[in-house]
Amino acid sequence: MIIFDSKDEISKKLKEENLGSAHLLRLNGYGSFNYLCSCGETHDVNGKDISCKGSAKPFKALLKCNKNFYTMIKIEGFFRKKALSEYGFDGKIFDTE
Ligand SMILES: [Zn+2]
Repeated sequence: MIIFDSKDEISKKLKEENLGSAHLLRLNGYGSFNYLCSCGETHDVNGKDISCKGSAKPFKALLKCNKNFYTMIKIEGFFRKKALSEYGFDGKIFDTE
């Protein structure tokens, strides 16, 4: 996973991804599975402390944990889902809201 530490890099990256709204992905429908977060822990993608802040193609979700760390995951697998963490950043540096 790449950790971005500059605001410019993050906004450039998110622009490249053409970040769309979270509901386009319908993450709830994927059920429960874990992802490696940029805070260093693993969380359940549909855990109550996790919020989805955006989506990108194909099957990517920008997740934020309760420590305010963002992670872009790519969802893989068909019957059994898994998350590949592509990059992340600390919400202190860049916040989508
Ligand atoms: Zn986290």
